[in-house]
Amino acid sequence: MKDKTTSDTIALDKQYLWHPFTQMADWLDGEPVMIERGEGFFLFDTEGRRYIDGVSSLWCNVHGHRVPAIDAAIRDQLDRIAHSTLLGLGQTRAAELAERLVRIAPAGLQKVFYSDSGATAVEIALKIAYQYWQNIGDTCRTRFIAIRDAYHGDTVGAVSVGGMDLFHGIFKSLLFETLFVSSPHPYRFDGTPDQCAAASLEAIESLLKTCAGQIAAIVLEPLVQGAAGIIVHPRGFLKSVEQLARRYNVLLIVDEVATGFARTGKMFACEHDDVRPDLMCLAKGITGGYLPLAATLTTQEVFDAFCAKGDPYKTFYHGHTYTGNALGCAAAVASLDLFEQNWILESLPEKIDLIAAAFTRIADLPSVGDVRQCGLMGGIELVLDKTTRQPFDAKRKLGAAVCAAMRPKGAMLRPLGDVIVLMPPPAIDVPTLKQLLDIIEETLEREF
Ligand SMILES: *Cc1c(COP(=O)(O)O)cnc(C)c1O
Repeated sequence: MKDKTTSDTIALDKQYLWHPFTQMADWLDGEPVMIERGEGFFLFDTEGRRYIDGVSSLWCNVHGHRVPAIDAAIRDQLDRIAHSTLLGLGQTRAAELAERLVRIAPAGLQKVFYSDSGATAVEIALKIAYQYWQNIGDTCRTRFIAIRDAYHGDTVGAVSVGGMDLFHGIFKSLLFETLFVSSPHPYRFDGTPDQCAAASLEAIESLLKTCAGQIAAIVLEPLVQGAAGIIVHPRGFLKSVEQLARRYNVLLIVDEVATGFARTGKMFACEHDDVRPDLMCLAKGITGGYLPLAATLTTQEVFDAFCAKGDPYKTFYHGHTYTGNALGCAAAVASLDLFEQNWILESLPEKIDLIAAAFTRIADLPSVGDVRQCGLMGGIELVLDKTTRQPFDAKRKLGAAVCAAMRPKGAMLRPLGDVIVLMPPPAIDVPTLKQLLDIIEETLEREF
């Protein structure tokens, strides 16, 4: 097919597409960038302009674009089969990947349930947790504890345990009731980080006491609440939540959709606190950012509660047509191989230090209220008043303006409100990362 010109493609887009998380009236008025191809850590638009992929194509790219080994693995799988079902049939690549995931997952996670997005991975974890208690006869455990400003995806169950008012408020009457506790967000808390964490932990414990016997699980994003604006929890918070879950005998669901696959500096965020969840949700980076695939991992104990020969009522009736898609699994296996071959985890400390050094300088700029970092996940929060932490008027869309100003300099970022998000692919090379950090620093310093 002949390449379309930029204006032709924009015309098609504007006539036929409805973009996610987008006020389409603004989109239709705008001059969108049309991405045509990628190469390594760069995106190229239809005008041939090159941008560093500074947020990993929405937090999922790991090794870059057009990675020969992943491309080859997908082609190789295409020569066998693109897709067959896991309903009533096995599939070689899906089995291979399941073993690989269990091998690297936190201890105790033994079984892999596939789906195709982060939201479905969470939805599945919630339903497994819910049915687990039903199956073992503890039938009053039907409620979940979640964290305010949490983001777990956009399906109705995932939204029910999500706490972002702007996204979720309108759907309130559609959701199941969840017990929320405050997010341990030190920048928006009057007190020390320890007091901040303690306040959330006390709230969780108080719910576990008052609703004893009714809680199925606690669900949270480990270490970092991504979509809420890269809120980095105080050290030890995750471990304390795990201890509460154990003490009060409720399941612990960790949503590693954003944090998984090296974003926090380790393969999984749970590793920082040596946490062993009952259920773990994976998506985004699982295929290296190539194809939509997700997985919900759980323990033998949870799995066993669903196993009863000939008993159809214990079965987990959930599945999606493309569950365990072979191309996605092939990409995921190739991505895991690259983690080892390219020593990705070992390469991270240097990059994490570079970001930390740049953030220390950026923190001093007049409109920067807070800088937050957990491994390769970074957030720079812009505020009107550094002392009072008063935000800018949301209508000013300052975060978006800052990111727009970085585009001509060759960096593609996407903010969360007035938080400038930095989320480079874990495999990014140091010179490109330096270039990205320079663009961010220079833009904030000179233009805002
Ligand atoms: C992105 C995200 C999700 C949703 O993943 P999708 O693939 O977009 O459905 C869920 N949880 C967290 C923590 C995320 O960052």
